[in-house]
Amino acid sequence: MVDSACIFCRIAARDIPADIVRESDHVVAFRDTNPQAPTHILIIPKEHVPTLYDAGMKQHQALGKMLALVGELARKEWAADGFRTIVNTGRVGHQEVYHVHMHVLGGPEPLGPMLVRRK
Ligand code: AMP
Ligand code: ZN
Repeated sequence: MVDSACIFCRIAARDIPADIVRESDHVVAFRDTNPQAPTHILIIPKEHVPTLYDAGMKQHQALGKMLALVGELARKEWAADGFRTIVNTGRVGHQEVYHVHMHVLGGPEPLGPMLVRRK
């Protein structure tokens, strides 16, 4: 359920500090400490699930809330012209922290390309 060695579990438990912008019964949203855009928020389930590969219907409430929260946060951040959501998964997806998280990246200026295109 919770992994005491996991940095995001510890943030959800308020065991280590983070700039938390929203918390509900299943999810927590906080600012990324190494922002890649003017707005960079991470949304996580409170339950420790390492990757999206490991998730399933058992997590449907938390996963649904992660998506449902994005619009609310974007409106709060005035990201009316759009934003980008990313969930990196595993080695191929360059995941660094093995607790499911959704990146929410906002402008105001348009973001760069999602992936560098192969020639
Ligand atoms: P990923 O490559 O998708 O696993 O991204 C992990 C993200 O977590 C990176 O953008 C990090 O900057 C971010 N991160 C790591 N530790 C913390 C922390 N303690 N508080 C907030 N963000 C963090
Ligand atoms: Zn965790």
